[in-house]
Amino acid sequence: MDLTFNDHLLPTLPAMNDLPEDKIVGITSTIPVEIVFAAGYIPVDLNNIFICDTHPYKMVEDAESAGLPRNTCAWIKGMYSVTRKHHIRKIISVVQGDCSNNQALMEIFQSEGIQTLPFAYPHSRTDTAFLYNQLVRLADALKVEYSKAEKMKKHLDAIRKKVHEIDRLTWVENKVTGGENHIWTVSASDLMGDYTIFDERATRFLKRVHDRKPIEYDLRIGLIGIPPICEDLYSFLSSIGAHVVFNEIQRQFSMPYPTKTLLEQYSQYTYPYDVFSRIDDIQHEIKQRNIRGLIHYVQSFCHRHIHDVMIRKHIQLPILTLDCDRPGRLDGAMKTRLEAFIEMLKTDKAEYTTLIRT
Ligand code: SF4
Repeated sequence: MDLTFNDHLLPTLPAMNDLPEDKIVGITSTIPVEIVFAAGYIPVDLNNIFICDTHPYKMVEDAESAGLPRNTCAWIKGMYSVTRKHHIRKIISVVQGDCSNNQALMEIFQSEGIQTLPFAYPHSRTDTAFLYNQLVRLADALKVEYSKAEKMKKHLDAIRKKVHEIDRLTWVENKVTGGENHIWTVSASDLMGDYTIFDERATRFLKRVHDRKPIEYDLRIGLIGIPPICEDLYSFLSSIGAHVVFNEIQRQFSMPYPTKTLLEQYSQYTYPYDVFSRIDDIQHEIKQRNIRGLIHYVQSFCHRHIHDVMIRKHIQLPILTLDCDRPGRLDGAMKTRLEAFIEMLKTDKAEYTTLIRT
């Protein structure tokens, strides 16, 4: 069975209809949610609401009917439809450090009367003055003292530690599946809009998982790149013996490095910066987690696809690049490529696999 949010052992999605409309703040990517929570708002990651909708494919089509181009990333179209469907009135958009599509999406929201608050990561992670300025500006825009957001960070750090433990149980004790790991780490972007419920669920999950027997598998792989849009990737990989022990970007959403301040935390978070810090992180985790091969997930029409060439240049491990456009199940061709890749890894013909591309 494929995993979804709202499984009794996994984080739950915010019940959008029950939330006070004036408190909802949509987010288009991971931003400093500490500031949003400290200001008394409910952060809701539009990506998560989109992909867990009962008909995410239709959400993409609805956005196209409204005029968004066919050759635009499906995550953008999904976020657009989610905002309309749930009448979200306030959105924090990442206008630097994510993609130019997001900037254009923000302009569409503005033209539809939705309040938008831009947040920009600096071009370089070492430009801490720029980042600090953005953090303070966001706190000012939400009318909350910055010191309250720093206090909130300490509170959320304790909760995020539980996600780090779930991650550890994936690759050290092999008791958490790659799919479960994906859902817990990806949901750390907004802590499901309610960190107290998130915390309770994580505690319950950890208790249950400790009693499990380790997962049986043939080999360990990593999934790098943005979170995949296809729904059955993890269950398919586990059905052919591959244990996903590393979800690169989702792990970043859980803020995996120990830090003392928001400034430090969001400087170390690799996703919005250049590909080189991502490559360092991937190299480190390949060794630490004993990974035999990587699947580089790329979203159709996403500029991040270009990073594939850099990743292949710097990472000496078999890599399969998997490109997907819309939500839904893997198609036959994708399954065949995944099977062939995993089979090659199993039979130690890995040196040839770096040539495999979409
Ligand atoms: S997948 Fe790429 S194009 Fe789509 S929203 Fe994310 S960064 Fe932008």
